[in-house]
Amino acid sequence: MAATESEEVPPISKFLLDCSPKDIALDWLQATDLTKNVYHHLAYFVPKIYCRDSNPIPLNEEVLAQHILLGPMEWYLCGEDPSVGMTKLEKANRSSQLCGHVFKIGEPTYSCRDCAVDPTCVLCMECFLASVHREHRYRMTTSGGGGFCDCGDTEAWKQGPYCRKHEPSGEAPEEDPLVHLSEDMIGRAYNIFAIAFKYAVDMLTWVEEDRLPSGLDPLEKEDTYYCMLFNDEVHTYEQVILTLQKAVNCTQKEAVSFATTVDRDGRRSVRYGDFHYCDQAKTVIVRNTSRQNKPLKVQVMHSSVVAHQAFAIKLLIWLSQVIGYSGGLRRILCQVGLQQRPDEDHSSLVDKLMLCDSKLWKGARNIYHQLFMSSLLMDLKYKKLFAVRFAKNYQQLQRDFMEDDHERVMSVTALSVQLFTVRTLARMLITEENLMTTIIQTFIDHLMRQRDSDGRFQFERYTTTFKFRRVQSLIGDLKYVLVSRLTEWTDKLREKFLEGFEVFLQLLKHMQGMDPVTRQVGQHIEMEPEWEAAFTLQMKLTHIISMMQEWCASDERVLIEAYRKCLIVLLQCQSGPCDGEQPITLNMCGHSLDSIEYRVSQNQVSIHLPVSRLFSGLHVLLSKTEVAYRFPELLPLSELSPPLLIEHPLHCMVLCAQVHAGMWRRNGFSLVNQIYYYHNVKCRVEMYDKDLIMLQAGASMMDPNHFLMIMLCRFELFHIFNNPDYGKRFRSEPMNKDVLQQNNILIEEMLHLIMMVVGERYTAGVGQVSPEDEIKREIIHQLCIRPMAHSELVKALPEDENRETGMEKVIESVAYFKKPGLTGRGLYELKRECTKEFNVFFYHYSRADQSKAEEAQRKLRKQNGEDTALPPPVLPHFCPLFASLVNIFQSDVYLYILRTVLQWVVEPIGHAWTESMLQRVLHLIGMALLEEKQQLESANEDSDFTFSFTSKVSRPGDAPENSPSILAMLETLQNAPHLEAYKDMIKWVLKLFGVIKKMRERSNSTPIVEIEGNSMEECLRDKDKADRKRKAEIARLRREKIMAQMSEMQRHFIDENRELFQQTLEELEASSSTVPDNSPVVPDAALIALGPRQTKIFNKKQIVTCILCQEEQEIKVNSKAMVLASFVQRSTVLSKNRARTIQDPDNYDPLFMQPDLACGTHIGSCGHIMHAHCWQSYFDAVQAKEQRRQQRLRVHTSYDVENGEFLCPLCECLSNTVIPLLPSSWSSQCSDNSRSFSGIPVLSQWLKCTVQQLNILRKIQEKHPGSADNPSNASPEGIEAPEGFQPDVNPKNPYSDSIKEMLTTLATATYKVGLKVHSNDQDPRIPIMCWGSCAYTIQATERFLTDEEKPLFGHLPCRQDDCLKALTQFAASHWTVSLLSVVQQHFARLLAVLLSDDDKTQHPPSILDVDMFHLLVSLVLSFPAVHCHDFTGVRLAVGVLHLFHLVTMAHIVQILLTSSTEENNMDQESTDGIEEAAAFTLYEKLRQYSGSALNFMASGWHLWQYIKSGILPYLRSSALFFHYLNGVPVPVELQENGPHHFELLCRYLCLPINLISLFQTNSDTIEPLMQRWCRSAEVQSFVKGERTAISYPRESNKLIDLPDDYSCLINQASCFTCPKSGGDKSRAPTLCLVCGEMLCSQSYCCQTELEGEDVGACTAHTYSCGCGVGIFLRVRESQVLFLAGKTKGCFYPPPYLDDYGETDQGLRRGNPLHLCKERYKKLQKLWQQHSITEEIGHAQEANQTLVGIDWQHL
Ligand SMILES: [Zn+2]
Ligand SMILES: [Zn+2]
Ligand SMILES: [Zn+2]
Ligand SMILES: [Zn+2]
Ligand SMILES: [Zn+2]
Ligand SMILES: [Zn+2]
Ligand SMILES: [Zn+2]
Repeated sequence: MAATESEEVPPISKFLLDCSPKDIALDWLQATDLTKNVYHHLAYFVPKIYCRDSNPIPLNEEVLAQHILLGPMEWYLCGEDPSVGMTKLEKANRSSQLCGHVFKIGEPTYSCRDCAVDPTCVLCMECFLASVHREHRYRMTTSGGGGFCDCGDTEAWKQGPYCRKHEPSGEAPEEDPLVHLSEDMIGRAYNIFAIAFKYAVDMLTWVEEDRLPSGLDPLEKEDTYYCMLFNDEVHTYEQVILTLQKAVNCTQKEAVSFATTVDRDGRRSVRYGDFHYCDQAKTVIVRNTSRQNKPLKVQVMHSSVVAHQAFAIKLLIWLSQVIGYSGGLRRILCQVGLQQRPDEDHSSLVDKLMLCDSKLWKGARNIYHQLFMSSLLMDLKYKKLFAVRFAKNYQQLQRDFMEDDHERVMSVTALSVQLFTVRTLARMLITEENLMTTIIQTFIDHLMRQRDSDGRFQFERYTTTFKFRRVQSLIGDLKYVLVSRLTEWTDKLREKFLEGFEVFLQLLKHMQGMDPVTRQVGQHIEMEPEWEAAFTLQMKLTHIISMMQEWCASDERVLIEAYRKCLIVLLQCQSGPCDGEQPITLNMCGHSLDSIEYRVSQNQVSIHLPVSRLFSGLHVLLSKTEVAYRFPELLPLSELSPPLLIEHPLHCMVLCAQVHAGMWRRNGFSLVNQIYYYHNVKCRVEMYDKDLIMLQAGASMMDPNHFLMIMLCRFELFHIFNNPDYGKRFRSEPMNKDVLQQNNILIEEMLHLIMMVVGERYTAGVGQVSPEDEIKREIIHQLCIRPMAHSELVKALPEDENRETGMEKVIESVAYFKKPGLTGRGLYELKRECTKEFNVFFYHYSRADQSKAEEAQRKLRKQNGEDTALPPPVLPHFCPLFASLVNIFQSDVYLYILRTVLQWVVEPIGHAWTESMLQRVLHLIGMALLEEKQQLESANEDSDFTFSFTSKVSRPGDAPENSPSILAMLETLQNAPHLEAYKDMIKWVLKLFGVIKKMRERSNSTPIVEIEGNSMEECLRDKDKADRKRKAEIARLRREKIMAQMSEMQRHFIDENRELFQQTLEELEASSSTVPDNSPVVPDAALIALGPRQTKIFNKKQIVTCILCQEEQEIKVNSKAMVLASFVQRSTVLSKNRARTIQDPDNYDPLFMQPDLACGTHIGSCGHIMHAHCWQSYFDAVQAKEQRRQQRLRVHTSYDVENGEFLCPLCECLSNTVIPLLPSSWSSQCSDNSRSFSGIPVLSQWLKCTVQQLNILRKIQEKHPGSADNPSNASPEGIEAPEGFQPDVNPKNPYSDSIKEMLTTLATATYKVGLKVHSNDQDPRIPIMCWGSCAYTIQATERFLTDEEKPLFGHLPCRQDDCLKALTQFAASHWTVSLLSVVQQHFARLLAVLLSDDDKTQHPPSILDVDMFHLLVSLVLSFPAVHCHDFTGVRLAVGVLHLFHLVTMAHIVQILLTSSTEENNMDQESTDGIEEAAAFTLYEKLRQYSGSALNFMASGWHLWQYIKSGILPYLRSSALFFHYLNGVPVPVELQENGPHHFELLCRYLCLPINLISLFQTNSDTIEPLMQRWCRSAEVQSFVKGERTAISYPRESNKLIDLPDDYSCLINQASCFTCPKSGGDKSRAPTLCLVCGEMLCSQSYCCQTELEGEDVGACTAHTYSCGCGVGIFLRVRESQVLFLAGKTKGCFYPPPYLDDYGETDQGLRRGNPLHLCKERYKKLQKLWQQHSITEEIGHAQEANQTLVGIDWQHL
C-alpha cells in the first residue's frame, strides 16, 4: 500500500497480547448463555484489533485476531490446546475422495473427451496427471476462476473418476463422518459454529452504517469513520482514479492503488477520520461521478462496523480451514448452515447469504462462495439439501442477479453448474422441485416485456443487450440440467419433463414468427431492423432444442406425448389470420389442387419457426426410433395437414431464393445477415436442416404432383411453367431484363430444392444411415473443396452440446493426414476413392463453396485423365416413413418441369434458360436414373416394381403437341456446339440410360447385370479413347498457343519490372563474384590474410546498379558514393550480463567493450544498393510525405521517420541508415607511406618506436590543444621527432565528397543509435562506435555460424556477406573523416591496456575487463591514423601484424587466468607434446607472477585444450575481420566443415600453429608485460576469488528452455502473481523468452514510466533485457509477441502445436499442445540474427491494423 510506505508499523499493545485464549475458552465452557459471552468478547475486542487507522495493518491484525479472537474459539472447540486437538482430528479423519480444488483464474483445467459426462467436468492439473485420462483424448482450458476439480465424483466420469491420490481405500464410501468425533466435541462444535456462522452472516449482510446488531454495540463510541468506496462495472478505472484524486487529495499512485483494491475486493476505504471529513469526500465522489448514468457507490461507515465486517470475513476463512481438518466438522457446519430458523421465517443462514448475494461486495462474496464449495458441495448428503434450497430460491436469485451489476462469476447463481450437472441431483430437482419448469418459466418471465402485439418476442436494439446477456445464463442452467443423458424414466419424471417441455413450447411459440420482414419495393428501408438478439436467442437455444429431442427420443411414451403437444402448439401458431390468403385453384398436367394465394414477395415472412422445426425434429425421431411403425395408432397422424406443414418452411426457402435473386435488395443487410446465419453451421441444424426435413415430411405424405405445384406456386413460377410459350415470348416481348434474370435464378433455386427434397437422405430417420455416415459425408464435401486443417474442419461441422463433432471417429476412413512443415499447418487430404461420393449440389455448400468444389473436382478429374462430368452420387435408401418421396421422380409435374427446361435449351432463345438450369436438370435426371438402377438391382423377382422413370422419359410429351421425349432432346443436345461444357455429363446420363435399359431387358433372366454393364462400359471406354486422343491433340495445340502468349506477356513483364529483374541478375552476379575471390590461383596453404607476407590481391573492377535510377556505377574512391540500405540497432543477443545497461549515455565511455558483451551495436542490411544522392532524394520525399500524412490523418506508420527510419525502396525492409560501398583495402593503403622494403622490425623494436611516436603526438597535443586537425601549423617546436616521423605531414583524403558525407552519415547514425543520444558530429566517441559496431557485428555473425554448425566462410547469405564487407571497409576508412588527434588519442589509450603502463592519468582497465576482439579491431582500425606520419619505410601491415600478435597473446593469458578456476573433467587423450609443454611452462609463469594464487594444473594437455577451445571464437572472428578488411581469399577447407580448422586459421592469420611459441619469440616484450598484467589490482583480486570474470569460450546465448507440454506453462503462469499489487493474479502473464522472467503485462498495476511515458511491463522489460527489443510468450493467449521500441510490435505464431500440426492462438480449441522444437529454433534464429525488428516491420506493412495497437502498454 503506497500510503504506508513511510509509516512505521505501530507496536502491538501489550494489554492485548496478555489475553489468554485458554482462560477465555474456559470461561465460555462454563457459560450459561454462550452467545452472549462470545458476542461480548467480540464487541469488546474486534474494534480494538481491526480498523485502527486509515490503512489496515494486516500483519498486526492477523496476529491479534488469531490470538484473541480465534484462539479462544479453537480452544473451546477442541477442549484442549488446539495444536494438539487439531492434529488428532486430522489423524482420525479419512481423507475425502473428492478433490474439490478450487480453481484460480488462469489455472489450467482438463476435461476428458472420452470419459467426462459433460464438458463442465474438469480436473485440476495434479489430479489429471495422476489419472487415466492423461492417455485419452483430453481438452485443456484455462479456468475463469470459481469452480472446482471434479476428481472423485463418480457421477462426473464415465470411467476413471479417481486419480491415484483420491482413490478410495476400499472401505464403504457412505459412512457417517460424525462417528469419528466424540459426543462432547460434536456438541461444542455445534455451539461455536452456530454462533460464529450467525455472527459472520449477520455482519456481512448488515446494512446500517452507523449502528451494530444488538450485543455488539461498543461501550464508548468514538467519532471515527471510513469513507468506503464500492466497485461497479459501469465506471472505468480512469474515471475512478481521477475522481479519487479530486475527492481525497491523494497522489495518482495512491489513487491507482485504491482503484486496484476496489476492483479486486469490491470495496476499499479511501478516507479515515471524523464523520464530517468522510462525508465531504463522499459528496465529492458522488458529485463527480453522477454525470454518467449512476454515481459510484460510497458509504460513510463507522469504524466499528467495518471492523466487525473485516472479522466476519476472517471468521469465514477460519471456518473453511477448520472443517478442512475433519469431515465430521464439515458436516456439522453444513447442518448449522442449513438449519431452518423458526424465528427467521424458517430460512437458514445459507438462504440468508444467498439471498443477499447481489448486495454484498466482491470480497465478501468470494469468501462465502469458497466456504460453500469447501463445505456444502464437498459433503454428498448436504450437497443434495443445498441443491434443494438453491432450487427453491432460484427465481429470486435470478431476479437479483438481473439487477446486480457484477459479472456472473461473482454471483452465487454461478454455483448452478456444480449442482445441475450432477445427474442424480438434476433428476431429483426436476421431479421434486420441478426445476425444468422453474428455469424455463423464469426465463420467459424475464423476456415477457419484450413482445409485440401478437405476443411474439421483439427485441429493441442496444437498450436490452446488457440485460439480455444476463438472461442468457438461464439457458446455460437449462443446458446443465439437460446435458447428462438419462437412462431410466419414472412416471413422475415423465410428468415433470413433459410439464417442462410444455412450458418450453410456450417459449418457442413466442419465438415463432419473430422479426417478420416484408419486401421493400421502391425505396430502401430507412433503418436496419434489429435482428441480432433474436438470432442470439436462437443460437443459444440450439443445443437445448437438440437435447430436448434427444430426451424425447429416449422414451417412447414421452416422445409420443411430446409429439402431440408440439402439434397442438404448431396448429395454434398456424391458426392465426395470415395476410393475403385467398383460396385459388391450380391446374397442371391434368392435376388439380386447391391452395391459397400467398406470395413471399408481398406478404410478411419470418425466418424464425422454432415450433415447426421442433415438430419436424420429433417427426424424424418417430421414424428413427421406429415408434411410427410400432404405435401408429397412438399418433395423431390424421390431424396432420401436409400442405399446412410445408407452408412456413417453404416460405423460408423461397425467401432465401428471392434474396439470392436480388429481389430483396432494398431490405438492407440485416436480412442478408439473417439468411447467412440461417444456413450457418452454428444455426442450421435447428433451422435450415429442419425446414428441409419438414418439406420432406410433408411431401412424403402428399401427392408428389401437388407438392411440386405448390412449390411452383410459392416460387412464383407457376405461370411461367404453365405457359408453354414462356420462352418464345421473350423474342416478341421486350421483357424487363431484371425480371428475366430473377426468374432464371428462381428456377435454378427451385430445381435445387427439388434435388434436396428427394436427394438429402443423410439424416438418421430420413434415410437409412448412421450418424457416422452423416459426418463422413460432411467431411468428404468439405475436403472436396480443398485439403483442410483439423480446426477448419471442426469449424465447418456442427458441434453438439459437448463440443464434439464426432469427426475423429471417421476422419481416418476418408482422409490422409499430411504433416506440417516449418510453417503452415497439418492438412487432411481426401482419399481418392471418396470423391465418387461428391455431390456438386450438396445442400450445406454456400455458393462460393460450391463453385470452388466444382472447379477443384473437375481439375482433379482432368489430372487423372477422366471426363469432367460430375454425376450425382449413389444415395442411401429412405426410411419407410419417407420412402414415398422417390415418387417425385416419376410424377407428371416433375417430368413436365424437366422437359420444359430442356425445350428451352434445345431451342436456344437468348435469355430464357441458363447453363446452371441445364446443369441442374441433368443432375436431376441423373438422380432419377440412379434411383431406378438401384431399385432394379435390389428388387427381387417377385417384388412389384413400379419405378419407371426411363420409360417415361422416352415418351414424347403432351404439350405442346408431340414435343420430343426427354431422351430425344438429350440426344440432340449431345452434339450441340454451345454445350461443350456439359457434353460429358450428357454422355454420362445417356450411358446410364442405356445400362438401365439393358438391365430392364434382362432383369427377368440374368442376374449378371453388373458384368454386362461393365463390358458395356468398356466398349464405351474404347470409343472414349479415340475421342480423348483427338481432344489431347487439340489441347496440345492450344497449350502451345498459350505458351506463345505467355512468353509475350513475360517480355512485357520484364520491361515493366526491369528493376526487379536487374536486381535478381545482380544478386546472382554478386553471389557468383565471390566464387573467383575464394578460389584463388595461389595454393591455399599459402593464403595469408594480413601482415607483411599477406597474399597479394588484385582488385577487380566493381560495378553495381542503383535500384532507384537503374544506372550502373563503378565503385571508386573518387566517384559518386553508392550505399546499402541498412539498419543499426542496439543488441544484447551476445550479452552475458543482462543486468548491465548503459546508465548515463552522455558520459559513457565506450572505448573498451566489457568481456560480458553486455550491450553492443549491430548493423545489418538487406543488401540493396543505391546512389547516395538517389537515396537522399528518396528519403526526403518519404519524409515530406509522412509529415503531411501525419498532420492530416494522425496515422502511424510501421517506421519512424523522425528517427531517420525508412523502408528499403525495393524490399521494404526496415532501415535507418546506409552503408557506403568502398573499394577494397583502399583505406589501409592510403596511410601506407612505405615505398621500399627496409627490413621488418621485430615486435620489441616496433613497439618502442610506436610508443615514441605516440609520446611525440601527445606532446604536440598538449602544446596545441584543439589545433590538431591542422598539424602543419602545429609544427613540433622543441619536440624532436625521430627520423622518418613527420607529424606535420597530413595525409590527403582520397575520397570524393559524397563518399566522405556517407562515411559521416553512417558514423553519426551508429553513434546516435548505439549510445541512444542526440546527434553530435563532433563527439570524439563517434569513431569508437564505428569500430565497435564492426567488431560486434562480426562477433554476432561468428556466433551464429557456430550455432548453426556452418563453416566460417562461403555460407553466409549474399546480403550479409556484402554487408559485412562494406561495414568493415567503412570502419577502416572512418579515420579519414575524423580528427586525427582524436583517433590517435584513442589508439594510445587502447594500446595502454596492453602495455599496462602505470600511467595514472589513463586508468586502463585490467586485461580481464576487456573484450580482446573489440580491442583488436579498434587498435587495427585506429593505427593508420598514427602510421600516416611514419615515413621510415616500415609498412602498415607490419604494425597490424604486431598488434594482432600482441592482442592474441593477451587473450591467451586472459584464457589461462580465467579457465583455471574451474575443474575440468576431460580425459587426457594424448601425451604432452611441444604445445602442451609450452602451455604448461606459460601457465607456471603466470602462477608465479600472480603470486601462486592460481590453482596448480599438472597437465599441459588440459591447458593446451583450454587455450585451443577458448581462443577459437576469437580466431574465427579475426579471420572474418581480416578477410573483409584486406580481401584475401579464403582457403577452400575453411569453406567446409572439417577437423583442422584451428591449424588452417592460424596459417591464414599468420600465426604459428603452436600459439605459445609467440611468447617465446617475443619473450623480451611479453615477459614484463605479463608481470604487469598479473600485478594489476583487478587480476589480484580475481585470483584471490574476490571477484568473478568471464571465462572462455563464452557460451552462445539461447532462448530459454520451454517445457514440452504447454499446460506446464499455463500452470506456471497461473501461480504467477503480479509483483506490484500484493498477491493478485496477473491477468496477462507474459514470459520473456530471452531471460525467462514472467511479467504482468497489459495491466495498470505494472505500468512504469520510461522516458517520460507510461509503459507496460513488457515494454519496460525490453529496455533492460534486450536494449528495446523483446520476444515474449503471452501464456494465456498462446501467442508470441515481438516488441521493438515503444511503437513497434507484432504477434507471431507460437512454437506450440497440437497433434494436427496447428497452433492455437487464443487457446480456443483446447487441444493438447506440445513444443515444436524446429519452430522454436526458427524463432531463436530470428533473434540471433537480429531480425526481430525487421520481422515486425514486415508484419506491420502486411497488416496495417497492427500499426494501431498500443504496443507500449503491453
Ligand atoms: Zn484435483
Ligand atoms: Zn484427484
Ligand atoms: Zn478419459
Ligand atoms: Zn541512382
Ligand atoms: Zn532491400
Ligand atoms: Zn528478459
Ligand atoms: Zn501487475
